[in-house]
Amino acid sequence: MNCASPIAPPIELSVLVPVYNEEAGLDALIARVIPVCESLFGDRFELVLVNDGSRDRSWPIICAHVDRDPRIRGINLSRNHGHQLALSAGLAHVRGELVFVLDADLQDPPELLGPMLAKIREGYDVAYGQRIKRHGETAFKRGTAALFYRLLDRLVDTHIPRDTGDFRLMTRRVVDQLNAMPERYRFVRGMVSWIGFEQAAVPYERDPRFAGETHYPLAKMVALAVDAVTSFSVVPLRLASHLGMVFGLMGLLGLIWIVAVWLAGGTVQGWASLASLVLIIGSVQLLVLGVFGEYLGRMYMESKRRPLYIIAELRGQPAASAEAGAPVRALEEELQERIGVAG
Ligand code: UDP
Ligand code: MG
Repeated sequence: MNCASPIAPPIELSVLVPVYNEEAGLDALIARVIPVCESLFGDRFELVLVNDGSRDRSWPIICAHVDRDPRIRGINLSRNHGHQLALSAGLAHVRGELVFVLDADLQDPPELLGPMLAKIREGYDVAYGQRIKRHGETAFKRGTAALFYRLLDRLVDTHIPRDTGDFRLMTRRVVDQLNAMPERYRFVRGMVSWIGFEQAAVPYERDPRFAGETHYPLAKMVALAVDAVTSFSVVPLRLASHLGMVFGLMGLLGLIWIVAVWLAGGTVQGWASLASLVLIIGSVQLLVLGVFGEYLGRMYMESKRRPLYIIAELRGQPAASAEAGAPVRALEEELQERIGVAG
């Protein structure tokens, strides 16, 4: 690792980009981000690219850029840890007073840095991009995303704004708070909402992907949705008592009906209805058990206190400020030490 040059200007802005198999778009991304940063911050910015275990040539491309431009830094994770953990790794290492998070696929226009900065200068701590239109995304993706945000709103007390991603500009104090949150299941945009302070929306139209394909297929989107709900709400755990009440009431009504038929001199027929009732109740019980299991499994995983991610390599200037990301890094170091002692 090379040392920071003594005349390096202070870093006012860090641009943080998680990268997973983005070889086709990286050059275009960097070519578009750098002039925007230069026009607003001169040389007082850094661009941090976190390679999340890409299987393509993304990391060599990042390294080539790091070698060419001292303002660019690369973080290589040991394997694919997922978008939210790649972001967390980056947040723990960026040094800027402001942090601008954006996707590598140019779906989030870097030019929005200007309007977001204006919001921060007005006194807001977070300026987040809110999509008013999504170009080049399938109706299915738009529909499921809309459904997801509506569901989240119903279940979660923290207000997580609709139609937002992780595209945002945040102040250092927000990033420090994020870094102080040690949880494993990280839904970063929700965590930012939970932190509070004043947050403002900056509306924009989401462009189509510049190159490649989305890395959020349906299964990953469902996993993210489950993370979001379970990280911020215990409402699903109450499902058991609600369903219990509903089925209890239905049972009572059924009983009244059976007694009434019997009093009238008839008998209620019903092998088929009995069988279907048993199946319905059985499946509801399994569903509720599944919900409990989901929370229990998460508690188990959290209780292991494993590091959130493993860094294989840092390229470019090392983090000069010990403050940036200190809590998450302290946790990392503590764990490494424990492992060292045990081994
Ligand atoms: N990404 C990542 N790790 C993953 C999946 C995605 O770092 O496991 C990055 C990806 O390179 C991109 C961002 O996260 O910069 C958002 O991913 P994508 O564009 O595929 O999601 P979408 O915009 O379709 O929701
Ligand atoms: Mg994208």
